[in-house]
Amino acid sequence: MSSHEKQVVYLCDVCKTTQMILFTPKMKEEFLPKDLNGLALYSHSHMCANGMIGVNNLYIDHNLDVRSYNFLKLPKYVPKKKMVIPMPGKPVDDDNLKFIHITHINSKNDLNIILFNEMTGTEIQIGTFDKKNTSPQKIVKSEMEMVILKYYYSNTMYTSQIEKWLVSLTCFLEMIPPSKLGIIVEVFRYILEEKNKMPTKFEQMIMKTILASHEIFFTNNNTNMDTAFLTGLYGEAEGKTMQAIMELIDENPLMALHQYSQKLNEEIVYTIYCFLILEKHGLITINRPGIITY
Ligand SMILES: [Zn+2]
Repeated sequence: MSSHEKQVVYLCDVCKTTQMILFTPKMKEEFLPKDLNGLALYSHSHMCANGMIGVNNLYIDHNLDVRSYNFLKLPKYVPKKKMVIPMPGKPVDDDNLKFIHITHINSKNDLNIILFNEMTGTEIQIGTFDKKNTSPQKIVKSEMEMVILKYYYSNTMYTSQIEKWLVSLTCFLEMIPPSKLGIIVEVFRYILEEKNKMPTKFEQMIMKTILASHEIFFTNNNTNMDTAFLTGLYGEAEGKTMQAIMELIDENPLMALHQYSQKLNEEIVYTIYCFLILEKHGLITINRPGIITY
């Protein structure tokens, strides 16, 4: 360990083991709060009790001392909800500006948004409102201002939490524009579910993975491995889904992530969660072009 690196140590409450993270100067630059009294959120994953993956959200101060932390509950199995996708996924054409109207994400009037994407030459309106005679409440821009999101009044209040989600989303859209409209709908559904808290690194990774789900492919690392232990660790429904995923990878290694979600008839966030678990156990490799893992 060089003098520029620092070890951060904490005790995981679930497995009662001491966890160590080595903060390199680059990580400090990336994660540390810029103001002296601020706290930064860092999500740390490790092999936790009974071989399960545990994620702790650590709140770290300027000196890299852990002020507080909590154990992240990963999304558990959710019974399939009725999908509300008002139109089928269509490839985005970037020849000239296209206007696309998505009438609603969940129930009526949950979101009123205009999403302009210069890279794909599209303007998407979410919600039914008169955009000509209404002024946006807030405007969120991506880093290079290629993606501009106008937020209009709706049943979903604009808060600092939702702002954080939308800023992340515009920046991700600049990096990885989705090829299907259905994927945009999935991302907004996810944001609406999680909108009352700040997104963590883990949740940002789920969001990035949803956006890039058409270009993520998998490699099965060990076809002969007995995966029955997954059921014992994560539950029967989860084990079954993961087993099905392993079989599907064997049958068709070139299938993209969003196709798994359709084939398994599961929500994309839940499908991604199962993939991340399989990856952490070393059963599969996830090939993610343009996606930064942590
Ligand atoms: Zn643990």
